Amino acid sequence: MKILRKLASNLFDLVFPVECLGCRKDGVFVCDECLRGVKLKKDFPCVVCGREAFFGRTHRECSRETSIDGVLCATDYKDELVGKMIRTYKYNLVRDLGPSLGWVMMRYLRGLMGRGELSKQRARKEMLEMTPEFLRFFTPSLVLPLGKGEITNRIVHQPEKPVLIPVPLHARRLRERGFNQAEILAGELSKYFDWDVQTDILTRKKYTTAQVNLKADERARNIKNAFDNNAPAFAEATAGKKTRKTNLEIKNRTVILVDDVLTTGATLNEAGMVLKNMGAREVWGVCLAKD
Ligand SMILES: [Zn+2]
Ligand SMILES: [Zn+2]
Repeated sequence: MKILRKLASNLFDLVFPVECLGCRKDGVFVCDECLRGVKLKKDFPCVVCGREAFFGRTHRECSRETSIDGVLCATDYKDELVGKMIRTYKYNLVRDLGPSLGWVMMRYLRGLMGRGELSKQRARKEMLEMTPEFLRFFTPSLVLPLGKGEITNRIVHQPEKPVLIPVPLHARRLRERGFNQAEILAGELSKYFDWDVQTDILTRKKYTTAQVNLKADERARNIKNAFDNNAPAFAEATAGKKTRKTNLEIKNRTVILVDDVLTTGATLNEAGMVLKNMGAREVWGVCLAKD
């Protein structure tokens, strides 16, 4: 079977020679040079209103409309090479592009972590608190400057590691595609940052039509109630009369939902609601590209 697949892949290469999507150099889907040249996003639009938000954190006044505490997108889907890479990865099923795309996300997050250091100069405690915890994780040197009457600078507490959860595909879609593109990206991030990936907590119970051609309100309707919890590690938590199922893996932790493309945020919102019901403290979306 393996040999057959190898043969098929060699034949495929003969008929469709592999070349860099950026510069058409032979033998790779994307060459290192083109990959390093991918422009990383510098603005932080709020997932609800699209206006600039500090490190992508959902504005307080927008937070009633989403379960997502913030989003970070590494690149712009409109960037020619980025768009090509994602379409080739996802629709032409070139799984091998996954690690390259994951590398781009890693480079983006690393860059932000450096910027976390900058907020030290901005020096206001509220500002620091608004920086996503998982970014602070990498800047242990982050200290608050001396306040009045204080003898030493206070070191901001070392935050807990976040949990990565790729946006799941419906079982049928997974069979059609053969892999979950978000799961591969999450796996890459996990390797770079030593964060855990959880793939058995959140499931997709609704087979949805592709979101691509839908308008914003149609997207929201299409994805409504698409996700469910699938948590073996349940603990029953009773609050008043309501019994809530909490998941011990994510209870009181920051969850990073990983996806390839962010459009309206409707998918993240639906998934985030389920995760918050399971006890997640914060749910962030980290995506490869913003459409
Ligand atoms: Zn190239
Ligand atoms: Zn907003």
